[in-house]
Parts: sequence; C-alpha cells; structure tokens
Amino acid sequence: MRTRTFQKILIANRGEIAVRVMRTCRAMGIASVAVYSDADQASPHVRSADEAVHIGPSPSAESYLRIEKIIEAARRTGAEAIHPGYGFLSENADFAAACAQSGLVFIGPAEEAIRNMGLKSTARRIMAEAGIPIVPGYDGEEQSLESLCGGAINIGWPVLIKASAGGGGRGMRVVRDLAELEAAIEGARREAEKAFGDGTLLLEKFIDRARHIEFQILGDAHGHLVHLFERECSVQRRHQKIIEESPSPALTPELRARMGQAAVEVGRAIGYVNAGTVEFILTPAGDFYFIEVNTRLQVEHPVTELVTGLDLVKLQIEIAEGGALPFTEVRPTGHAVEARLYAEDPGNGFLPATGAIYDWNPPPSIEGLRIDAGIDSRMEVGIYYDPLLAKLIAHGADREAAVRKLAYALRNLSVQGVQTNREFLIRLLEHPAFRRGEAHTGFVSEHLGELVAEQDAAEDFTAAAVVALYLQKSWEAERRTLPHVPLNYRNNPFRDPSIKLQVGETEFQISYRQLGSGSYLVSAGNSQATARVVAFQPGSIRLAIDSVQRLFRVTEAGERFFAHSSSGSRVVARLARYPYHQVESNLENASAPMPGQVLRILVVAGQAVAVGDPLVILEAMKMEHTLRAAMDGVVEAILVKIGDVVAPGDVLVHIGAM
Ligand code: ADP
Ligand code: ADP
Ligand code: MG
Repeated sequence: MRTRTFQKILIANRGEIAVRVMRTCRAMGIASVAVYSDADQASPHVRSADEAVHIGPSPSAESYLRIEKIIEAARRTGAEAIHPGYGFLSENADFAAACAQSGLVFIGPAEEAIRNMGLKSTARRIMAEAGIPIVPGYDGEEQSLESLCGGAINIGWPVLIKASAGGGGRGMRVVRDLAELEAAIEGARREAEKAFGDGTLLLEKFIDRARHIEFQILGDAHGHLVHLFERECSVQRRHQKIIEESPSPALTPELRARMGQAAVEVGRAIGYVNAGTVEFILTPAGDFYFIEVNTRLQVEHPVTELVTGLDLVKLQIEIAEGGALPFTEVRPTGHAVEARLYAEDPGNGFLPATGAIYDWNPPPSIEGLRIDAGIDSRMEVGIYYDPLLAKLIAHGADREAAVRKLAYALRNLSVQGVQTNREFLIRLLEHPAFRRGEAHTGFVSEHLGELVAEQDAAEDFTAAAVVALYLQKSWEAERRTLPHVPLNYRNNPFRDPSIKLQVGETEFQISYRQLGSGSYLVSAGNSQATARVVAFQPGSIRLAIDSVQRLFRVTEAGERFFAHSSSGSRVVARLARYPYHQVESNLENASAPMPGQVLRILVVAGQAVAVGDPLVILEAMKMEHTLRAAMDGVVEAILVKIGDVVAPGDVLVHIGAM
C-alpha cells in the first residue's frame, strides 16, 4: 500500500532525539542526514548520521530554526523526507508547507492539523465543538484587559493564564486572587509576545493536585486512527515533565477506555495522520479535560514503545511513505518509566547548567533498560539549546519493578562536569509518595525540600579518601615509568603523606599511612577508614573501604576530580597547599600540593630562610607553582632534585628551627 519508499531522510534536529531517529533509519536501511550548527560540529548526532550538513552559527534562530537552510541541506544531499523531531520546527506549519513546496515529505501530520493545534485557543474551540470536555476557561478572541478579567472572574479562582501559542511549559502563570490578576495578564502578554511572537492569552481554571495524562495517537492516510494507551507525566517542574510512565497508576480500566476513546475522537476531529499526543488534565475527583494536542513525536514516546513493543519512529516513517497501520489492536505489557536527565540545578530553581562533560558513562546493558542520549564525554553543554541531556527508560513486569530498575540505572550512571538533576531524579523515584503512585503536578514543589536535601557527609569523606588514594596510585604508576627517580625516595621520614581536598563546602586534610602493601589508614579530622587498593587503572580505582569493596570512577578535570560509585557522586577539588597555609605542627615541611615535576630548586642545604621565601618551583598542569617557606629557619634537607616527579603530599624541603 506504500506509495513511495525513502532512501534518505534528513533529521532537522539535534541531541538525543536526532540520534534516536537516526537509529531507526539505520535499522530500516535508510540513510540519514544530520544538520548541525557551529556548536554541534562534534556532537553525537553528527556522528550518528551518514552525512551531515553545516547550517550556520550556534544560536538556533540562525541554524536549526532556519527553514530555507534545512531545505537546502536536504536538496544538496538528496534526502526525500524530513523528520523534525520535537521542539525547533516540529510544530511549525510553515515548515511543513515549505517541505511540501520543495517536493520533500514532512514526517508528521498535515499542515492544517499543525496550524489548528498550534494555538491552544483554537484547539480548545475545535474540541469543544467536537464534544470533547475542555477545562472551564476563556478562549475568546477578545483580548482586552476587561474581557480577560471578566473571563477570569467567571471561571473562579485559581486561574491559569496560558500563552495560546506557548509550549514547553513556558509562559504560564497561576493567579489565586483578583488583586494579582491585572499585573499577571499584562506580564503574561509581554512574555508571550517576546517568546512566541504572539501575545494571545487564554485562561483556564487551574486544577490543583491534577494529574497530567496523555494518550499517544497514531493515524495513517487510509483513515485508521488508534491510540496506544496513556502516559502519565504528572511529575513536573515549571510545568514541564521530568518523569513519565505507562500505564498510569491513577486510571481504572473503565477510565482508561473513556479517555482513550476521547483521544481518538480528538484525532478524528482534526483528521489526524502520523504520531501525535492528546494531553488531558485529570482532576482529583476523576474528571478529565482536554488541554492540548502535540502534533509531533513526544520527548517521552519511549515509554509507549517499551510497553507496546512498537517503534514509533518506524511507524511515522511508514505512514509518511503512504503505508497503512500494520495492526488493529495493540496490547501493552508491563510497566515503563522514563526519567529526563537535564543539565540543571534542582537546588537552585532548576536553573539550566552549562559546562564540559568530562565523563559520560551509562550503566552497562541491563535487560529492559533503554538509554537515549545525545551527549558524550568531552562534549560541551552550552547556552544555546535545551538542557535535556539524555533519557533513561526502564521496563519491568510491574510499576515497582520498572521504578526500581530506573533508580538503579541512575545510581550507576556517571555524568560529570556539568550539574545535572541525576540525584534529584533518584530521590524522586525513591520517594514513598511517588512509589505509592500518588504524584500530581504540584508534587515537586510540595516535596522540594526532601528532593534537594543535603548530601550525606560521610560520602564526602569517602570521596576525598578515594581521590587521595587515586592520586597516590596514579603517581606510583607514573613513577614506575621514570627510572631516574630514586626508588626509596618516597620514604618520607617526616610524616604521613597528606593532601588537602575540598568536597562541597568541606575541606579535608586527608592523610594516609601505609599499613601494608596496598593498604592504608586514611584519616581527616575525626573521620577515619581503612582502605585497601584492590585494583587501579587510569580512570578508576577499586577500593575496599572498611571491608566494603566498590569500584570508583575517578575523572580528572584540572584541579577538580569527579569520584563516582553506586553509592554517590562527588566533585572533589584539590586545594593548593602552600606551606604558609599548613597547620602549625607541619610548618617545617614544604610539600607538593599536587603531582608535578620539580622545575627549579631555589635554596641550598644550610641556607637560612624566612617565612614566604621561595623554595622550589613545581610544574603541574602546564602551570608553575612556587612552594614557600612557612617558618623562619634553616634548610635542613632538600629531598628532591630538578626533574623529579612528585606526588601530592610529598615533602620536598625540610626546614629546621634556627
Ligand atoms: P513533550 O511535550 O514532548 O514532553 P516538552 O514540552 O518538554 O515536550 O517540549 C519538548 C521540547 O520542545 C523541549 O525541548 C521544549 O523546550 C521544546 N518546546 C516545545 N514547545 C516549544 C515552544 N512553543 N517554543 C519553544 N520550545 C518548545
Ligand atoms: P505546554 O504546551 O507548555 O505543554 P500545556 O497546556 O500542555 O502546555 O500545560 C503544561 C502543563 O501545565 C500541564 O502538564 C499541567 O501540569 C499544567 N496545566 C495545564 N493546564 C492546567 C490546568 N488547567 N490546571 C492545572 N494545571 C494545568
Ligand atoms: Mg503540553
């Protein structure tokens, strides 16, 4: 029944979704074309594609949102169809039209459906007419302050102001009484004009403790339209989803059937073809209302794929090729749950974070675990795009099995260099109320305190101890390759090696005494542990700490170290330890603050020195560090010579009292 078959598809997107679409293209034997901006030259989505076309500077307005550049890229590479992913141009009716005009197939619904559903006010009116329950509200064309205020008063408090053209949870305001209304309307209008180029507002009754339930729909060009069950996406921050699952713990079979039926009617009302999502609000009383249709593949579509066993992108492509839906009935199995890994700081209002990714190490393959990622080690997370880094999706026989597997996977994921919501997600998944299936759209704000609680201080000490021993082992390994260093030179007659590290706000003066081969007593302040090095290699160290053995990944980034194990992840900073910062008892020893090489020795034995006099210059990380005397005295011993490689804590010069 297909009217054509594609040989090559251009993916007009970036990040995890572009990588994911390309995976299906490959599986279907279809070549893929990536487009990329300056910032994305070396991004995973470019490497996932068979060909890639540069489309301009980093800001999306000059690259990923430029219709003509994308169409030109398709023309140059001979792609026959364009998959828009989500975000960017995916819900842009002009883009769909431009594709058609250039003889390209837009993999998505018809231009008209996109246009009609793109404005929430229009969508509400169409659905009201089709007999779909919509949230009590005001969606009038009359946008004067009086009309909107009148509308709000009719609805009754609290009221939610939405930008008709809005999306991604942006441009919404909850108003709880009349006094706030005027200012909120004016603010929302300005924001909507700026963000979406359209200041049209609509008002809805704000449903407290609502659940977000959406249905995946799929239609072909032959008049078949089905739903592929629901996804519950109630765990949100800033009105944007963080955790999504299917089935919803809130639906009875009877309610599921009614909502599914309504979703199909929504699709029929707009003659929907391809994959789309019908979003509903479910009230605590069990009533449901339509809120919007997303005329594209959704971020959380993998949840549906895991419970149905279908590949939605493959189906999208087949539908765009003119194919008919290959099934009449789909039966879901088990439970699937997804977590969105964002570069953001949950403890600081979920502000997006930027930085270099020094380590990206997902857990090894686990049955029923899927990871859709658009990042890689050594990649820069910049300011230009959405901070979604990756999605982890777990499938299990039931909800408990799926949730437990997802939390386990997140615990075993190392993502270093940029602040992420990883630990926040683990806490969410482990929260007893979430486990009981009691989430609602206010869940995160209601439990924020518990979800961003202080980290475990014991783990801070462990991380510092791990980094200290890791550095010690790195240095030993390095020294083995440097034969000119005297073998017994490490025998430090003056004190245990020590290093000053900082974890969070806490400083640790970690000292470690060798107890036996590979075995140490590590201490800092009141904390103490025995640690046995079981195995060491660059990038990781396996340690038995107080007899519990774990593998720690250690990633170096200049003066920062990232220590990760299944029990936690910490950033450990090495503090420059100039002698004059040292504790009194150790003023006589000038020791290396970091691994380095002795560049110059500025004193001779027997020389008198005063506090602050330079003793030795070390070179480390392409920088020079001067070690200075911390007390007045006489140089008693110089324990190194030029060219020696030293480890943190090594004493270089010993000073005696005069
Ligand atoms: P979903 O509805 O699939 O869960 P989101 O609401 O999280 O997806 O949005 C998906 C992506 O699209 C995000 O990157 C979001 O920032 C972006 N997005 C969605 N709608 C808009 C819009 N109108 N303007 C800008 N970005 C949007
Ligand atoms: P967007 O296009 O930004 O996704 P939606 O209309 O889908 O906008 O709403 C996003 C989220 O805002 C919903 O998932 C829900 O949490 C919340 N929301 C939307 N409408 C209402 C409402 N009437 N009452 C309560 N919460 C709502
Ligand atoms: Mg929505």
